This record gives sequence, C-alpha cells and structure tokens, in this order.
Amino acid sequence: MTIRLQYCDHYKTERVTRFAPSPTGALHLGHVASALFGWSLAQPAGQWLVRMEDIDPQRCKPAFAAAILDDLAWLGLLPCGPVLYQSARMAVYAHVLDRLERMGLLYPCFCTRSDIARESTAMLSAPHTAPDGSVLYPGRCRTLDAAEQALRMEAGQPYVLRLNMARAMARAQECAKENAQGGATCPVGSRVANGTGATGQGAVRGVVADAAWPLTYHDLNCGPVPCQPELFGDVVLARRDVPASYHLCVTCDDAAQGVTLVTRGEDLRPATSLHRLLQTLMGWPAPHYAFHPLLCNAEGRRLAKRDGALAISTMRARGMSAEQVRRKAMFTAAQRQSTCGPAPAP
Ligand code: GLU
Repeated sequence: MTIRLQYCDHYKTERVTRFAPSPTGALHLGHVASALFGWSLAQPAGQWLVRMEDIDPQRCKPAFAAAILDDLAWLGLLPCGPVLYQSARMAVYAHVLDRLERMGLLYPCFCTRSDIARESTAMLSAPHTAPDGSVLYPGRCRTLDAAEQALRMEAGQPYVLRLNMARAMARAQECAKENAQGGATCPVGSRVANGTGATGQGAVRGVVADAAWPLTYHDLNCGPVPCQPELFGDVVLARRDVPASYHLCVTCDDAAQGVTLVTRGEDLRPATSLHRLLQTLMGWPAPHYAFHPLLCNAEGRRLAKRDGALAISTMRARGMSAEQVRRKAMFTAAQRQSTCGPAPAP
C-alpha cells in the first residue's frame, strides 16, 4: 500500500490509531476514506486497530461486522491485534459507571423523550439542542431525592443514567488543580480491561498529568482547541435499552486500547469536548485528535449506508480492484476541505 495523506510525522512517539465503525450496514467509500486516514497516520511504525461499536442490538448485526472485516481485509487493511467488540464489554462499562456514580456524578432520569421535549418547549418556547442535535435536558430528575429514586426503580420505571454536568465540570476542575499541585485524590491512570485479557497500554500510561484546566483537546492539525462539554448538558451515559452509551464506551475503549491518536469525522468534533471531560474524571490519558472531512454523494449529502452504489461490496462485484477502491476513496476525500474548531482562548 503506497497511499499517504498529507498529515504525518510531527507526532513522534509510537502512534496507535483506530477505526471504529458501527456495524449497522455495509462498508462504503466514506468508511474506507476514514479507515485509510487512521491507517496512514499510524504509518510507518505505529499500530492501527479496529473496534466494532456494536452496543445497539437493534441496529448492529454480526453479519454486518463480518462483512466490514471482510471488505477491510480485501482492501489490505488488516488491524494490529484482535478486533474489539463493544458488545462484549458491558461489564467494563458497568464498572466505569459505578466509579462515576461513587463520585456522585450520575443520577437516574425517568423522563421520556416526549416529557423532555414538552418541558423544554414550555420553559424555553423552543427546545434547546446539544451539538449532536439532542434536546438539552431541562433537569427535572436532577433534584429527585434518594427515596423517590428508589421508589421509582422498585416500581420498575425505566430510566437512563445522566451525568450531572455542573458537578462533573467542578470535579474535573478539582482534578486539574490537584494535578497542578502534585496531589492524587483524583483517579490516577485507572486501568481499563481491553478485552483481550491484558490491560491496555493507554491505561498503563494514564496519569492525572493530562488533567488541566481549562479543558482542551489537541488537534493534530490545529493545536490546542478549547473544550465546551457543558454544551451537551446532562448527557446520557447509560441508555434505557443498553446500560452504556457511545460517549462512555468510546472514551473507555480508547483508553483500554491505548489509542494515542483518535482519527474521526468532523461530525464528531463537538463530542470530543465531552470525551476530554470523561477522560479527566476517570484519570485516563488524553489522546491527540485528527479530524477528516465527511464524504458526500453527488447531491452533496453526507454518504450514508443507503447510498448502495457506493458500498464496497458493490464495487467489488463490479470488478474494481482494491487499489482502485482505495484511490477512489482517497481522491474523493482529497476534494473535501478539513476545518478547525474555535481558536484557542488568548
Ligand atoms: N462509531 C462511530 C461511527 O461509526 C465512530 C466513533 C469515533 O470515532 O469516535 O461514526
């Protein structure tokens, strides 16, 4: 494989990147561009890992995961080490939730989506939304007392676990202060099982030295970017149907797998703020980040799994070679411009 992207080589240590698809459909050209982006940034001496983000049993199917891995292998993209399946790691996520709970940062929320939309509209005339488009939680269950929570749980009322954002921000700030003073009340490099029987490198490297205030993330292309996790409000960390969430699992597993450079689409840039907050609270290392633009279809819309003609399996069936598909992905990606987040505060 000879393709190289424009970034590279000013991040000296041994680099670990990952490709983390959700197996909800076939691999398409946008995924290949994303996989190649991460793969090329791991060259020449780093590691490129693959993780299946398959916590949603309704949408994620083992057959899609198998087909994705088959397409990646055909493309010559072979991960270093075993593929990590998030669906097999629920006990690890439960442990992380337990830690956050014991810090007093979680609370059960019994509100339904329509409760939230109704209340949000009543309070603000139009629902306020988080950067991911979800309605900001107005906070009704934040103040429920322990007896009421217990009563509702005993009655079998379904609930999610939310992060108390104000408390989490205060706690992260304390961690940073203690870190600056050389103290260690906050979790130091908490270890996370990586699902392969060993403890992830990142977990071993983890030190509170990464806790600093104000929170920033390091963008490989733009340098330090200020974080604004508060824009997400009291975000859900454990769903009703699955006792985990994307934000929880992605940060936990990047630490467990020792990922040093998270490569992902620009659409996930805002979520990175939230991930830095969780990393700080858990004492996990701060990876660096590199964002790639999203590929669009002929109508200018972001590529989606329903764009069947762009499925890699279709291209394979039409007789395209792996090299042609890789080049098509790189060429299409090169036509897109990457953007940076807000400039660092002076
Ligand atoms: N699973 C996510 C997706 O398919 C990517 C996760 C990430 O890079 O943080 O979009």
